[in-house]
Parts: sequence; structure tokens; C-alpha cells
Amino acid sequence: MEGYEKTSGVSKIVGGTQEEKDKTAKHFEDLPKEKESAFADVKDILFEREKTSEEVEIIESINAKLPEFIRSYGGEPAPLNLDQFHILDLKQSPISVRLLFKFGIVRFAGGYLPETQAITLAPESFRNSKLAFAHGATHESIHMHSFTSFELKEKSPGQPKDNPVRRRIGFTVNEDQEEKLLFNDINEAITEELTRRFDEQYFSDMPILKDDIELRDTVRKKKPSKTEGEDIIAVSKVNLPSDWLCILEVTLFHEIYSKKVTDFKMLLKDLYEKNKDSFESEEGVFRLFAKSMLKGNMLDVARLYEKTYGKGSFRSLGERTAKITK
Ligand SMILES: [Zn+2]
Repeated sequence: MEGYEKTSGVSKIVGGTQEEKDKTAKHFEDLPKEKESAFADVKDILFEREKTSEEVEIIESINAKLPEFIRSYGGEPAPLNLDQFHILDLKQSPISVRLLFKFGIVRFAGGYLPETQAITLAPESFRNSKLAFAHGATHESIHMHSFTSFELKEKSPGQPKDNPVRRRIGFTVNEDQEEKLLFNDINEAITEELTRRFDEQYFSDMPILKDDIELRDTVRKKKPSKTEGEDIIAVSKVNLPSDWLCILEVTLFHEIYSKKVTDFKMLLKDLYEKNKDSFESEEGVFRLFAKSMLKGNMLDVARLYEKTYGKGSFRSLGERTAKITK
């Protein structure tokens, strides 16, 4: 719908009567006003803390610019405010949980929870880097601004259809009672590529990120990335407990999404090579995917894909890039 203003991160609700749809839309709209922790489901092991003033400044700087960026790729930004960001405080967790994080057995930097309209961030995973935190906050916010649809289902036969179940988040499709998230890797790669572009376009104008960006520039010059998609996203300083030089080493954040982004860029290149009559550049193919993730219409991408690789190939791509969720 042109000119439609989202009242929450949810773009569309299917199933149920109009009344049930309206009630659910209102529920999602009101969620950010509720103060319940984003970690309510795991309240004995994960806890939330107040944001630091630096975190507030980073989130607000991003929020000020992200809507125009989302529109520039054909999307419709969702209303998103500071209260919807929840910071994980690992220090309050039992030692067993802290160790899982420390040894990288659990790798969690952040997430978007459509059901609660919340974004979670785990600063421990960003190792004191404001830039890495900003990157994580942008990535999760882009998920929130992406097309999101729910389907209303009945909890048990004969009951009203008041149970919203995830249907599509960005470029992903939920199937088999939420057991499989088709196209998950593609969705992550588009999101990550947009995050990097937002970084390039806006981060250097944010005063709070100035020092971190200078440090990153220095490291990037010394250590150029080997392959496309392997950019150094952020650098963290490590202070050693001695009187050596106070900053001895830098830790490089080789993006956890590198492989997904590299694979996706190869796909864009191949699609462009085989469809040069329809596109002026690879950028045109990327924009088709990005718009599809943000606006929800997958048909254009599906048509292009099947025209290029044959009937049924789009479905196979979905399976190949799926994430099993249970
Ligand atoms: Zn993601």
C-alpha cells in the first residue's frame, strides 16, 4: 500500500476477521510502551541493565538517520524508539552462562524479536568497541524496519484467531510451524550489506564514533582485506594489566556474516552476468533484493531467479539458505 505508515514493526497481518486483525495491530503498536524485560522468557539466566549514556547517544544517532536510508532502498521505516532497545547485562547471569559466552560456545551479539517488538544487544560481544555496538544496533534495526508479517491462528480448534504466528520477516519465510526459516542466509546477507553501507554513509558524521573510526582506518590501511565481504568492521583496544604500552593489541572483528555476504555477492554477480539486458549493473540486482526484503514482495526476485536457473530453483535456494529453528 503506497503511503501506508507502519504503526509498529509489523507490516501485515493475515488470517482472522478484520476486528481480530485490528486488535492484533493495536497490540503490536502498544508493545513498546510495556516495560517488561525483553528477556522475560529466560528471566533466571539473562538480565537487562540500563543503557549507558554512550549507548543512548549511539542508538539515537542511528535512529535519526536510518529512516531516510531505509526509504532510499524502497522500504517503509517502522516507528522505533530507545525503549525498544534492551541491553543484556551478562554480569548478573550465573557463572555457567557467563562461561558459555566467554568461551564462545554461545555467540550472541544481538537479536530482533518481532513478537515483542524488541531489539536486544549484548555489549560483551562487542568488546568495548563503540563502533561494533553501533554496527550491531544498525543491523538489528534494519531487521525491525524490514517487511514483517504475522498470521492469526487459533490456539485450539473453535477458539478465536488471536494468536499471531510469524509468517515473513524480511526475506525469510517461516514454514512447518516455525521449524524452518527459508532464505535466512540471504536475509542476513542483505541486512549486513545494508549495515555496511549505512556505516560508510553515516558513521563518520557521528561524533561519538570518531575515535573508533580513526582507529579502524589505521588498521584497515595496515591490513587490507583479502576477499570481498571480509572488511574489518570494528577494532577493539585491549588494555594489558601491566605497564607496557597501554594499548598493545587490536582485535579484529572479522564479521560473523562474512561468508554469507561473500556468497550473496557471488550470486548477485552471476545474476547480473546472465541478465545484462535487464540491469545496468550489479547494483540493480542488489536493489531488487533489498527492496524485496524491506517491502515484502519476493515475486520479482523469484521471477528473475527462475528465469536464470530454471523452474523450482528459487525454492531450492530457500532450502539451501534456510535456518532450522527447532
Ligand atoms: Zn541478523
